[in-house]
Amino acid sequence: MFENRENETSGIENLGEFGLIDHLTKNFTINQKSTVKGIGDDAAVIACDSKMELVITTDLLLENVHFDLSYMPLKHLGYKAVVVNLSDVYAMNAEPTQITVSIAVSNRFPVEALEELYAGITAASKFYNVDVVGGDTTSSTTGLLISITAIGTVKKGEAILRSGAGVNDLLVVTGDLGAAYMGLQVLEREKQVFLVNPNSQPDLEPYSYLVERQLKPEARKDIPALLKELGVKPTSMIDISDGLSSEIIHLCKNSEVGCNLYEDKIPLDPQVITVCEEFNIDSTTIALNGGEDYELLFTIKTEDFEKVKGNPHLTIIGHMTEEKEGTHLITRANTKIPLIARGWNPLENKD
Ligand code: ADP
Ligand code: MG
Repeated sequence: MFENRENETSGIENLGEFGLIDHLTKNFTINQKSTVKGIGDDAAVIACDSKMELVITTDLLLENVHFDLSYMPLKHLGYKAVVVNLSDVYAMNAEPTQITVSIAVSNRFPVEALEELYAGITAASKFYNVDVVGGDTTSSTTGLLISITAIGTVKKGEAILRSGAGVNDLLVVTGDLGAAYMGLQVLEREKQVFLVNPNSQPDLEPYSYLVERQLKPEARKDIPALLKELGVKPTSMIDISDGLSSEIIHLCKNSEVGCNLYEDKIPLDPQVITVCEEFNIDSTTIALNGGEDYELLFTIKTEDFEKVKGNPHLTIIGHMTEEKEGTHLITRANTKIPLIARGWNPLENKD
């Protein structure tokens, strides 16, 4: 009846996040006609009626793994928990419509604190025009846990998958990269200062953009509309939650293509460049591996180049190649370095 599982040591650290998902899900089969796309994209796609498809995606946030309440206000946490899910909906070219919210809490949290969390959820649901239609509430013996599921709609056949990129397609990214990760580094540093000297109050003004990107990210709801306006239909799309490098590899694997990414094209905010110098970290490494940017990464056909060129929201950062050529970063010094997906590793706490 009672089993000691501690000695069963097929360590998940060898698989990493993506290897673990593949390993655990490889035996699932699709048996329902309505399942258009199952595991393996930003969201699943479910047939609805002759005109519409539904997309559905879920994310789990755990205290002290995904957020630290010593600098993450609960209102922001609620907002961010919604945003990270909606980002996956937009990455499918879909419009989010509903969310469900599940929480596990300990009695360490007064009602007022949970009201704050829900004020953030309410603000995000208003801004992104989604209805909160359910959830679950339970107790936790450790930290706070929040899990959100988002549902969206897309015209039948218009969902953009990770698998549609072709050889020679251009690789495009929205916004700029690395700011959320550097925001986290700044907040972590100030936390350590505060622990030593509780009377100190940090001056975060020079880091305002970075801290905002970490504490109050937004999902790119403007991009599907912008692409429609420009008359561009991406061939593949993904959102950037785990870092540019890892997301490029997802697009390449799913589309069976390779990629050349150009270091000098990667969009960086001036604050990222400055703070990387201050921390003595390479800004390209941060853009490639930082994560939590919630920007969209997509591929377009070469004939759409003129439509995208010069758009302030969009940067062409590379192009797709034959699969056998692999996925590479072409550095400023014109050397070719293989891209590595770091993702999440349970024994290597990247944050
Ligand atoms: P994203 O970063 O866009 O949220 P993930 O890397 O978390 O995507 O997940 C990749 C795919 O694997 C998605 O289709 C997701 O639904 C699926 N997935 C992740 N974890 C599990 C799990 N434990 N069981 C089944 N499917 C999972
Ligand atoms: Mg995603």
